[in-house]
Amino acid sequence: MNQEKIGKFIARVRKEKNMTQQELANKLNITDRAISHWENGRSMPDAGIMLELCKLLDINVNELLSAKKIIKESYNEHAEENLLEMRREIESQNKKILILNRIITFLGFIIYVLVVLAAIFIEIPMIIRNIIIVLALVMLLLFGVFNLKNLQKTGYYECQDCKHQYIPTFSQMFFGVSGITKGGTWKMKCPNCNKKCWHKKVLTKINEK
Ligand SMILES: [Zn+2]
Repeated sequence: MNQEKIGKFIARVRKEKNMTQQELANKLNITDRAISHWENGRSMPDAGIMLELCKLLDINVNELLSAKKIIKESYNEHAEENLLEMRREIESQNKKILILNRIITFLGFIIYVLVVLAAIFIEIPMIIRNIIIVLALVMLLLFGVFNLKNLQKTGYYECQDCKHQYIPTFSQMFFGVSGITKGGTWKMKCPNCNKKCWHKKVLTKINEK
């Protein structure tokens, strides 16, 4: 932040608005000496007065602090860049959640198989064996619900028929069909076109409506 540059910028914009230092000072309820101090780069307008100053000069704080007017086009470009950056962040975050989800589900399945095998092959009373197998099954179901819940909450599903993107409900997912070989697809009823078809996982919403 260059105080001197900002001072010169304030002076320039003030003159463009055909205001004297005294007139600007009156509007801000401060002395014209303060204005002169800013414009000579000796001090900065404090935060409390900055917004009011910007309003009077018809600039935004961003422009004041960078000591230049930002043309609308590059401003929009900037906003778009930020939006893209945000989208990339959400996308990579969702990707991580989905990968972690797959790993946890896979581990759950492995543990289930190991526990059941152990229960079958180790010499233990039948009743304990049955209890272990049932508990393992319950655990597997819990892993399944956890997996489905994460899948449902992460990102969106896109209807392959009408391209509608939405977050399905848990029961929609539960009664749908998982496309295991189709990489993250799910067969369910689309709330937009009511067709039962394959839905593709999308990490961020593309066509905002
Ligand atoms: Zn649809």
